[in-house]
Amino acid sequence: MDSNSDSVDRAPDQKVGPLGRASDSRDPFGASSADMRDWGYWLVRAVVSHFEEVDTSPAIASATPEKLEEALGGPLPEVGSHDPLPDLQLLIETALRNMQHGDHPRYFARVPSPSSYAAVLGDWLSTGFNAIASSWAGGSGTAVVESTVLRWIAELVGIPSSTEGVLTSGGSMGILIALSVARNEKGPGVAYLTSQAHASNGRALRILGFPEKDIHQIPHDETFRMSIQELKAAIEADRMRGLTPRIVIASAGTTNTGAIDPLQELAELCQSEDLWLHVDGAYGAPAASLDRFRNLMCGLDRAHSLVLDPHKWLFQPYDIGSVFISTPGALARSFTMSPEYLADATSHRLGEIDYRDRTIELSRRARSLKLWLTFRTYGADAIREAIGHGVRLAEHAEAVLNDDQRWHVVTPAQLAIVTFTRHGASDDDHRRCAEWLSAEGFAAASSTHLNDRWVLRLCTINPRTTDDDITETIQQMAKFFDEQAAVAPRLSTDSRPL
Ligand SMILES: *Cc1c(COP(=O)(O)O)cnc(C)c1O
Repeated sequence: MDSNSDSVDRAPDQKVGPLGRASDSRDPFGASSADMRDWGYWLVRAVVSHFEEVDTSPAIASATPEKLEEALGGPLPEVGSHDPLPDLQLLIETALRNMQHGDHPRYFARVPSPSSYAAVLGDWLSTGFNAIASSWAGGSGTAVVESTVLRWIAELVGIPSSTEGVLTSGGSMGILIALSVARNEKGPGVAYLTSQAHASNGRALRILGFPEKDIHQIPHDETFRMSIQELKAAIEADRMRGLTPRIVIASAGTTNTGAIDPLQELAELCQSEDLWLHVDGAYGAPAASLDRFRNLMCGLDRAHSLVLDPHKWLFQPYDIGSVFISTPGALARSFTMSPEYLADATSHRLGEIDYRDRTIELSRRARSLKLWLTFRTYGADAIREAIGHGVRLAEHAEAVLNDDQRWHVVTPAQLAIVTFTRHGASDDDHRRCAEWLSAEGFAAASSTHLNDRWVLRLCTINPRTTDDDITETIQQMAKFFDEQAAVAPRLSTDSRPL
């Protein structure tokens, strides 16, 4: 590939660096400034093309290990090509083609990640400047950007401004941090959760060494929300057995159905029983920014810990999660380390935050920049509007399904998730339908397991998705049951939950 082909696109001030000095910068391995610009411009065009064309290729694609190894594997390259463009192209065509495209408007599987362009710019900037967000001394600027976006998230979803937070790699890490702080603050004891809590909650408890007797599963009601009565009974029974109830793990939007646990009642109960209320809002919490969810999300502001993933419903590319702890100082009590070699990089003044002391990561990239730039570029109002669009899309899906007797809505549209079955179709048919849809390339949806049977599930949080995308995806699924189910291969795995 000709690395000079983009030269006409160069900015007129290309020879001037950001400080106005002649730019003679080199990368550590000798790339010239001109090459760095050309490669960079090439990449910008490739990424913008991706934004323009993402919906013209499959929402999810996969290849065999052999094929991918053949294209991307091979021995350690001893001699470099000194031209990254062919290899960038190769990565685009192989590595990046063969994955789930969480930003594709018809990617409805699991939880999509409809990232926005301003966020991509922020991420690039952070990477390009090798921005670190570890200590105040080593990054006061990035620390304030992090504090600012954490405050903005808190304001957006309506949790107290005194709440302290930290950005994480995602929900799993946020949950591990939250539950670690919970145990540190409250002491060991029983944690309560339902089968609908995301699996990373149970995993975090096990990582933290909670014995099985201290992990108590509470039944959910018919709407997949934690049953308060069952929880109360379990707490009482555990106390009678000499156990110590400590933590209630609630969901503000379960991954399966979008169910929101009864947060207000849980907050009341946790207060009267002196329990820690942990709310997993990894995907769902941003909906608390909408007036229509005020009631359902009421109680979120009383959580002792809250997890929210901006790489899901705040339109960020991977990875960025966040965790908030209501008790000031609790994060630092759990995670501060002060070895002699960090003495110079330890803050002493009020307002100077060492984010490394709020998390498990020491060297950390500045994940805050992309979210900061997103809020500043588009504004909170547009973000709320985009969240509301996703909520309405699932309602449209529900209406389309209800219009046809052959579909049965299992859980209605909640927080942009709807689940459903086809009358007369088997568990295996439903799972094969999800598989077939992805393989066909038009759209991607998930199957999941509810009330002892497999169902189909759409998660519709992408602002670029249209009503037609939804309608046509459901038509494709109908086509599977009408024409393909008999001929498509059976699944080799059996149909029990994994
Ligand atoms: C996605 C999700 C998680 C896990 O978050 P990651 O960022 O994938 O680690 C946890 N809880 C819920 C409710 C989720 O939807």
